[in-house]
Amino acid sequence: MRVELAEVYGFCPGVRRAVAMVEAHLRERGPLATLGAIVHNAQVVEELSRRGARVVEDLAAVWEGAVAITAHGAGPEVFEEIQRRGLLLVDTTCPIVRRAQEAARALAEAGFCVLIYGEEAHPEVRGLLAWTRGRGLATLDPADVPPALGERLALISQTTKGREEFWRFVAAVVERRSPELQEVRALDTTCPETGRRYLAVRELAQRAEALVVVGSRTSANTRKLAEVARATGRPTFHIERAEELQPEWFREVRRVGVTAGASTPDALVREVVARLEQMGGAP
Ligand code: SF4
Repeated sequence: MRVELAEVYGFCPGVRRAVAMVEAHLRERGPLATLGAIVHNAQVVEELSRRGARVVEDLAAVWEGAVAITAHGAGPEVFEEIQRRGLLLVDTTCPIVRRAQEAARALAEAGFCVLIYGEEAHPEVRGLLAWTRGRGLATLDPADVPPALGERLALISQTTKGREEFWRFVAAVVERRSPELQEVRALDTTCPETGRRYLAVRELAQRAEALVVVGSRTSANTRKLAEVARATGRPTFHIERAEELQPEWFREVRRVGVTAGASTPDALVREVVARLEQMGGAP
């Protein structure tokens, strides 16, 4: 059985950068706390925690030393609190998220109501909302958007949402506009990385007879990648570890494709590829 990797898979540049920054801090300056998991992968988090990166959900749990903001970013009040308390900041906010935060801040300051296409409870969206300083709201459903949002409305997106979905959302919101609305600005703040993984798995499915998606079941982006893989019609197996692979899945398979979510480390993908190569499959 041949094993083929998708052209784009695994850690996105933002997560790769965040993990590298935390690793560099651990190596050079010692332990630190991370405000939330630095990456949605239990194995990476365990490994970093073994080396001194403690995950905390709230700044109140950090009394001294260094604290890392994850690639999802955080609101201005978090940065202010870190400074006020004299903690050392390791800011791993992804530059693409930073751009979206900057847009949220500037639009709100210019007097727009900022509507974010995203999940309200997601850490990135909570940060974006905070940058609007009370002039924003977030939803995925145009029906949830209140009819009257003032004269100036700006729309941006959670970075990991699809471009097409975002523009459909914009069109639906504009269609339901209130008579008082005079100006609408829409800024595509989606990240191209997520889409690149979807394209690559669709392309891989044209050659592979089965697909393996590697990554945490709690990672939204890996679950979505598995959905995209399944939608190609190829048998798709979403696994977290190489040990989950079953030889009978591949008995009739001559070529298997492998991809991984944006929070899956390379080492895990290498283990999966090695194990698949040991399995017979079809000649
Ligand atoms: S998916 Fe995009 S925006 Fe999110 S961390 Fe990765 S590179 Fe940054």
